This record gives sequence, C-alpha cells and structure tokens, in this order.
Amino acid sequence: SSFTYQFDTPSYKGTSTVPTGLFINGKFVEPVEKGTIEVVNPVNGKVITSVAAGTAADIDIAVRAARKAYKECWGLKVPGVQRGRMLNKLADLLQANADEFAALEALDVGKAFRVARNGDILASIGALRYYAGWADKIQGKTIETNEKKLAYTRHEPIGVVGAIVPWNFPLTMLSFKIGPALAAGNAVILKPSELTPLTALRLCPLFAEAGFPDGVVNLVNGYGSIAGQALSEHMDVDKITFTGSTLTGRKIMETASKTNLKKVTLELGGKSPSVIFNDVDLEQTVKWASHGIFMNHGQACTAGSRIFVQAGIYDRFLKAFTEHALSLKVGDPFARDTYQGPQISQTQFERIMGYIKSGKEDGATVHIGGERHGNEGYFIQPTIFTECKPNMKIVQEEIFGPVAAIIKFTTEEEAIEQANNTVYGLACSVFTRDIDRAIRVAHSIEAGTAWINCHNSSELSLPFGGFKQSGIGRELGEYALEHYTNLKAVHVNI
Ligand code: NAD
Repeated sequence: SSFTYQFDTPSYKGTSTVPTGLFINGKFVEPVEKGTIEVVNPVNGKVITSVAAGTAADIDIAVRAARKAYKECWGLKVPGVQRGRMLNKLADLLQANADEFAALEALDVGKAFRVARNGDILASIGALRYYAGWADKIQGKTIETNEKKLAYTRHEPIGVVGAIVPWNFPLTMLSFKIGPALAAGNAVILKPSELTPLTALRLCPLFAEAGFPDGVVNLVNGYGSIAGQALSEHMDVDKITFTGSTLTGRKIMETASKTNLKKVTLELGGKSPSVIFNDVDLEQTVKWASHGIFMNHGQACTAGSRIFVQAGIYDRFLKAFTEHALSLKVGDPFARDTYQGPQISQTQFERIMGYIKSGKEDGATVHIGGERHGNEGYFIQPTIFTECKPNMKIVQEEIFGPVAAIIKFTTEEEAIEQANNTVYGLACSVFTRDIDRAIRVAHSIEAGTAWINCHNSSELSLPFGGFKQSGIGRELGEYALEHYTNLKAVHVNI
C-alpha cells in the first residue's frame, strides 16, 4: 500500500507517492500484527496518512533478512569500491528527486521547504557521497613486532546494525548512519521516528535501484517503546546506532548491557552555551547566535540555548538580538519567506509551553515571545528570556524549542564555569575578536564541538558527538568509521 500527496505550493508543485508498509528483504510487506501509526501535519494537526507499525515479530524477520544478506552477499564479499559505487548511486537518485524529498520533509516535520532543500537534503546527499569515498579506503596497518612475526590489523564490518533516528532531521540523521554503516559493509535495519517516517519510506525503493542486494537495508517503522525496544533487545543485532534523547539513550544502553552486550553509539541531547565577549563584531554575532538557537525552530541537539553575554555589550546585544528574532518569519513551511514553521507535535508544543511557564514562575523575564503563534498547529513565537539564574529549569534542561535564555557575565573565568555547569557536553560557541581568548575558552568548555565566531555550522568531514551525558562515540568524518567496524589484530608466525 502507498499514499500519494499532491503538492501545490509556492515552493513546490508535484506529486509524491510514498509506500507505507515495512521494507524487509527488498520488498514492502504488511506487519505481522495489524497496526498503523497516524502521520500528523504539524501545521494544522490534521492526519496526513497512516503507515504500518511494526512490532517485535517484524523486527525479528528484518534481523533474519539482514543477517542472511550480510552472510551471503554483503560485508567483505563485496569489494569496498563496489559498496562506494552503490552509495554514490543512491546519492544520485536522491539528488534527482531532491525537491520531492524536501517537500516531504517540510510536510512531515514542518520545516521550511527552502531549509529542507538546502539543508537536510543536501547534507544527506553529501554524507552518502562522503562515505562512498571512504568505502575503499578503510585500511589496517602492518605493525612491526619481531622478525619471526608478521602482524597487521583489519577493520571488519560489525555485522547487523540497528539505526534508530529522531524526528528533527529525519533523512539527514538516517544518512549519517547508513553512509558509514554501508561503506564499512554492515547490513542495516532502520527505525525512523514514528512522528516522521515519510522520507525514510520514500528512500527504500531507491536501495535496489542503487544496487544494494535485498536485505542489506531494511526499514521497520514503529513506536520507540515497541519496535525500537525490540531492535535494541534483539540477540542477533550487533550494534545500535542511536540519535535521540538522553533518556532513550540510557534505556538503549541498559538494554544492550542486559542482552548480548551489543555495541552502542549514542548521539543525545544538549544545552549548548554561546559565550559572547565585549569585543565582538555585533552584527555577525547576532546572526550566528540567532541561527544557533532558532535554526530548525530550536529543535536541534546543538541549539545554543544558553547565551552568556559580557556586561559591556549586554544591552547592545540584547537590542540587536531581539530585533533579529522579531524579524524571523513564522508560518507556512511552503511560503517562500518562512524561516520558522511549527514544532513537531502537540506533545512537544505542550512541553515547550510548560518550560516557558516554569521560566516565568522561577522569576526569569519573558523579554519577547512566550506565546503560541496563530491559532492552529504547533507554532510558538521565538522567545527570549532574560534575568535567568543558573539553576532554573530553563537554564539546565533541554527545551528543544525556540527559547533562548540570556545570562549576563563579567569575567572569562565566570563564563567558563557557568558554561560548564550542565550535565550535557555536545557543543559550544565563543564569540570574540581576541584569538588567544577564543582558543582558550573553546578549549576550556567541555563539549564535543567548539565553534569560534559561528554556531551550528556543520562539516561532514569533522567528528560530531558529545562529552558528558550528550553521548558516546562519534558520527561523521573518518572517526565514525571506527564505530562501524571491528578491529582485528592478525599475528602470523613465520
Ligand atoms: P526520542 O529519544 O524520543 O526518540 C528517538 C528515537 O528513539 C525514535 O525513533 C523513537 O521511536 C526511538 N525510541 C523511543 N523509545 C525507545 C526505546 N525504549 N528503545 C528504542 N528506541 C526508542 O527523541 P526525539 O524526541 O525523537 O528526538 C529529540 C532528541 O534527540 C533531543 O533530545 C535531541 O537533543 C536529540 N538529538 C540529538 C542529536 C545528536 O546528534 N546528538 C541530533 C538530533 C537530535
């Protein structure tokens, strides 16, 4: 079964047909137990379509298919150069249908079409091509020991990998996982977010067209607590690669430890600080700090949600930052000038409004925003809080919405201490024209990514991941490959 959507919008006109079943062993199938999940349009809360909901029984069938494919026609049986060619072909197919994929992402997530097209879809294509290039360059070393021995290392595929992804960048997060997983020769079972399954489903028919043998990539949609849980429990899954909340990451690690001790990489939440010193280029800093927190409606794990501003520039920064936030156009994702669409769901909407309420109750000041935008869907005004104190919930917890907490500071030491006053450690940004200070502060903040004079500026070739409770392992760059391979030492007695 499938569903067809007719887009007739200022940004995109066209028809998209998306299969709605589970994709196992190269075919779309119905789940063993009948069940569906409604896909909701966040712009108006109306149901777009329903897709199949898989359960443990479907996960088991998918894992068997993946294992069989891995053993019989994948892994190191297929030379790296060929795996790379398939990934490049997949990228070509995605590129040929980029507008349609962007439209589906805009419909499903509510992000602006332009942002989906130039951000999400390009990043997905880029990641597939980046790892296509690596597929024939995964190399071991020979290691000198003594003259009676030849010793070398091999990077072998791990086997069957379960990839569980969130809803904020559905296709991009999926590509960041299948790129290195397939380049290294693993078979994959994808579990998209139940909130945003459309682009993942639309991608499935392209795997065969790109040349991947049946069973190498499978997709089981379903609820996290059912299909996601079953995948992380399965005794024949060798690894889970997960992006999502810290709470779920914790559960997955616990499940892995109680079952077959499968490997895990976890890309989790954040509460990233932006530290702004007196001597900055104000216009550029405002632009980046705004992109830091308001990009993707604040639904980014790296969102610069705590903005520390030095006293000497505080008033000027706040004025310019406020003007910039007020200029962000909130509305229909398909309107050409939209910057910010709706939040993903009713639940997230309520959660964010709950944080705004708690900020007010704790004594912070709503400088601008703080209310629902419009009267349908899940839109929230870009919101700026001032008078924030270190232990307030809005300063400590990940809100995952367009809500910035501004905090005044005096000295560099104080800024570093406050920036590090969090359980998270995903990213940070430092704004100053003083190069020594920029580097000193960037090195002092406990985070996997440090941006100097920018924020949310990603590169496929750089490792991405968290310190502290923001995760385990790294995505992207050469570093991700070590998380999709097993390292073997071979000793040859001569
Ligand atoms: P989530 O943890 O609720 O869900 C993520 C995925 O996990 C979904 O596919 C869900 O179905 C699945 N899941 C839920 N419960 C599960 C369980 N018990 N076992 C296995 N799978 C389960 O997160 P979300 O709300 O979709 O995404 C938002 C979170 O993701 C935020 O905390 C954000 O910071 C984080 N995130 C992190 C990164 C990063 O790279 N560090 C990137 C994007 C988002």
